[in-house]
Amino acid sequence: MTIKVGVIGYGTIGKRIADVVLLQDDMELIGVTGNTFNYKIKSAINKGINIFAADHLGTGLKRNGVCLAGKIVDLLEECDVVCDCTPKGVGKKNKRKYIEHNVKAIFQGGEKPEVGKSFVAQCNYEDVAGEDYIRVVSCNTTGLCRTLHAVDQEYGINDVHATMVRRAADPWDIYHGPINAIVPALELPSHHGPDVRTVLPNFTVFTTSVHVPTTIMHMHSLSIELQNPATVEGVLNLFLKTTRVRIVKNSDGIRSTAEIIEYAKDMGRLRGDMPEVCIWEEGVGVWGNKLFYLQAVHQESDVVVETIDAIRASVGKPITSISKTNQSLGIE
Ligand code: NAD
Repeated sequence: MTIKVGVIGYGTIGKRIADVVLLQDDMELIGVTGNTFNYKIKSAINKGINIFAADHLGTGLKRNGVCLAGKIVDLLEECDVVCDCTPKGVGKKNKRKYIEHNVKAIFQGGEKPEVGKSFVAQCNYEDVAGEDYIRVVSCNTTGLCRTLHAVDQEYGINDVHATMVRRAADPWDIYHGPINAIVPALELPSHHGPDVRTVLPNFTVFTTSVHVPTTIMHMHSLSIELQNPATVEGVLNLFLKTTRVRIVKNSDGIRSTAEIIEYAKDMGRLRGDMPEVCIWEEGVGVWGNKLFYLQAVHQESDVVVETIDAIRASVGKPITSISKTNQSLGIE
């Protein structure tokens, strides 16, 4: 069965999901919605992607010469599954339309957990399979869940504290900052800890967060109280065999998030994306029953592979989706 997919909201996440859907041999991209006319819509047209008006008129798009394939309702009629990649809060409003048109929907992490079942493929694919409404958790929560799930399976976790050093804005974004400050998030815990527990409810996770003047990636510093003894070597072996987790080395000259993204570009990755969570080999430490490590998360791409799996999970396809998606993007 070919899954007919639509993308609602063609921005940072939506345009990436559309491109990766095009790589899947069991999916067909019916089209994407255009909200306002811009360079993203122009490049979608150049790729031969059908554009549907996000509103009922599509006036701005038509005025700029876009030949529309229809309106959002027409797109919903043709799809089995839509990926809602609109800004925070819009997805919740759109859900009404998805219910009316009887189409399954994958939401993103800007939406509240109530919008659908929280999802990270390697943690809860089978629990979520067949659901009509799935929420791929945020980029930070996805990164935390991937590595914490592996550690919990191997050693058992009592308790986690993690600090998130968060990028200020996406690279294209000229509106947000800071550009010369470190801004603490004065909510304790930050929303990430409770969000991790919507996927991994069996241990406590306390998170704190600061924003810093970078656009490239987030960095997490984790401190985990384990139930069973661990060694640095054992933990590194565990991460080496964990899907969508990559060990990077200071000794290879990867000392920073900047070098991770340069490495992704050198590997020929589309847009220079790094969907894997990157853990520094030299940054893993064990002290008594505590495990420490540093991981970098590429906010623009880690949730994209999860969304492709969420599409397959929603229609009841098996968990082999993870390796299928990985293979399409050259992820080992
Ligand atoms: P974005 O602002 O880059 O893109 C959103 C797109 O939706 C824009 O093209 C906008 O024109 C369009 N849009 C706005 N209202 C619309 C509507 N009513 N109907 C159809 N389209 C509409 O946003 P983004 O960064 O791609 O974020 C999308 C979702 O992904 C959010 O939930 C966000 O929290 C989540 N997310 C973002 C990132 C990131 O780093 N950017 C990472 C993980 C998750």
